[in-house]
Amino acid sequence: MNSEIKKLAEEVLSGSDLERDSIDNLASLSKDCHYDLLYWANRIREKYFGNKVRLCSIVPGRLGGCNQDCKFCSQSASYKTAIDKTIMLSDEEIMLAAEKAYRSGVPNFGIVYSGRTVTEKELCRLEKLIPEIKSKYSLGICASLGIINNSQAKRLAAAGAGRYNHNLETSRRHFADVVTTHDYQARVETIKVAMRAGMGVCAGGIFGIGETDDDRIDMALDLRELGVDVIPMNFLHPIEGTPLENTPKLPPKEILRIIAMYRFILPKAHLKIAGGRVLNLRDMQSWMFYAGATALLSGDYLTTAGRSVKEDTQMVEDLGLRVECE
Ligand code: SF4
Repeated sequence: MNSEIKKLAEEVLSGSDLERDSIDNLASLSKDCHYDLLYWANRIREKYFGNKVRLCSIVPGRLGGCNQDCKFCSQSASYKTAIDKTIMLSDEEIMLAAEKAYRSGVPNFGIVYSGRTVTEKELCRLEKLIPEIKSKYSLGICASLGIINNSQAKRLAAAGAGRYNHNLETSRRHFADVVTTHDYQARVETIKVAMRAGMGVCAGGIFGIGETDDDRIDMALDLRELGVDVIPMNFLHPIEGTPLENTPKLPPKEILRIIAMYRFILPKAHLKIAGGRVLNLRDMQSWMFYAGATALLSGDYLTTAGRSVKEDTQMVEDLGLRVECE
């Protein structure tokens, strides 16, 4: 057992936040002491979350035709991908997806729109739909509608959205290499706006897009400073037609190392393993909990197929863990 990793883990287990120097040290040790890192990440997960796992499903309310240029995204209109037009789901289709989530036992339901922000017409539609979903299916509702202002955030919170999803995606330094149509600070501001309106925030990023360990640590520290408590971790699923289509996929062990590093840096935040999980972790999916994950995006992702809620729930139960409501 590596004594330095043990010492850092004991610091986290005693309730202290790791300083940047310690995190850099952990990152360099983590490559040679993979299983020690995972062992301690699992101990930290157990201390702060016991056997609880959070499960969410999402529905794309608006898919494709996005005016932004995130290089990893098949929904950007800047790239020629299989998603070549905008698809708006009807009220009935969104309600049906909520019913499916409810019947499969998923407690949290996210409504996700492509685009820089949400239109007034769509916001009005959601102000009617969200209370309807909540009263019929008592699901926790998360909205993901791009960059929003104070008034939009307050209206969503008043309608019953308990959470807002808005990812930082990567570090402030690396952001401009990946997105040019808006900046990192706009994302930070939206997170703050959602928090001020009283919503919980789900914010994380995507890994395997050319970032370094430093970038990963920078983003984790920004999320820690913002006080985000649910952190989606996506792992690039290279999509044909996007600028990142030929980017090599992250190996499963590297993904587990990233999750474990985040568990050390953000011990009390849910780490939600989301896009790219099935493709990249393959047979090692159940290891994500041993690396410190505490939440899953289950069912299909926005543009790629995921795994059924039934299969994921089975995996959670087989590990002696339990799906919990918020
Ligand atoms: S990640 Fe969101 S904002 Fe960026 S291109 Fe895709 S849908 Fe648009």
